[in-house]
Amino acid sequence: MRVNAYAAPAAGQPLTPTTIERRSVGANDVLIEIRYAGICHSDIHTVNGDWGPQPYPVVPGHEIVGVVAEVGADVTRRQVGDRVGVGCMVNSCGECTNCRNGDEQYCLDGMVGTYAATDRDGTTTQGGYSTHVVVDADYVLSVPDGIDPAAAAPLLCAGITTYAPLRRWGAGPGKRVAVVGLGGLGHMAVKIAHALGAEVTVLSQTLKKQEDGLRLGADDYFATSDPGTFEQLASRYDLIINTVSAGIDLDAYLGLLGVDGTLVNVGAPAEPLSVNVFSLLNSRRSFAGSMIGGIALTQEMLDFCAEHGIGSEVEVIAADQINEAYERVLASDVRYRFVIDTSTIA
Ligand code: NAP
Ligand code: ZN
Repeated sequence: MRVNAYAAPAAGQPLTPTTIERRSVGANDVLIEIRYAGICHSDIHTVNGDWGPQPYPVVPGHEIVGVVAEVGADVTRRQVGDRVGVGCMVNSCGECTNCRNGDEQYCLDGMVGTYAATDRDGTTTQGGYSTHVVVDADYVLSVPDGIDPAAAAPLLCAGITTYAPLRRWGAGPGKRVAVVGLGGLGHMAVKIAHALGAEVTVLSQTLKKQEDGLRLGADDYFATSDPGTFEQLASRYDLIINTVSAGIDLDAYLGLLGVDGTLVNVGAPAEPLSVNVFSLLNSRRSFAGSMIGGIALTQEMLDFCAEHGIGSEVEVIAADQINEAYERVLASDVRYRFVIDTSTIA
């Protein structure tokens, strides 16, 4: 079927309206009528070619919420009318150790990204800035009724990307967690870490968003442009989640960790980051990375967010505002996620 979408025609080019082909609904597929699609900084990195060459035209979008419009013959868990979500991953081998452990995002055969990836049938995937998508039912999530659908969309990437390391590294009562960067991922990290019971600090470039940060659940808020911040907070944290989309001085942030503390990098800048090993030797610190999360954990996160009344803070936009929204994300002028109302994609 031919559907409307917004695509980047080439690296660095503005997104424009187009049409794309969606495969017919296979036995284990569902057709989703998309309602909302979040704008993740990864969409911008991808279409700008920050992470290497892409199969243009690229339709980004991996924070998708919609309604099931059709189910394949073998699909038993979904019905027409169900409210569902799709995140960053639409396929994986399903058989390797990592897939079997629920870490499909680390599939040894390569997980299939929701856009700009080669699907297991050889076609190129196209993402959620579109009116419809056909997805294997095993990669479709249930979006609980308690979360507003627009506010739920960013959970599918920003939510799971922060929930996964917060859970793995034990954010909870008695733990001090710092979140670097208060953007899409950062604001979700603050809400989730607070709901898990941790003591949460925001480390932002400036104090401009301090009031918001405290309202979202932070206990403290500091500006990283102030060198005094790094002296004042030395050796204080158990866990730091770095969500920054650009390079930062990792050694300065590692210095904020106590003994056995971990800095988990979820930001994915174009350029390599460097670490002075003495920042790790001192206080037996760890530097780690984490990429999205598996399907079961993503469902757990959605249920956790519904239970705790957590959604994303969103600014809903029409499709013809996508390019302007990209500029604002690049300028750190997002509060805190742009979400496209996909009914405006014509
Ligand atoms: P975002 O909304 O743009 O947030 C990034 C925040 O980082 C900004 O709001 C800003 O916060 C801070 N920042 C930006 N430029 C900076 C600079 N030059 N120096 C210091 N701080 C800066 O982006 P996002 O959607 O949250 O994504 C963040 C990063 O995570 C991107 O690189 C994205 O590709 C990556 N990502 C990774 C995964 C994964 O699986 N690991 C998943 C999704 C996204 P302040 O204004 O508060 O300083
Ligand atoms: Zn994302």
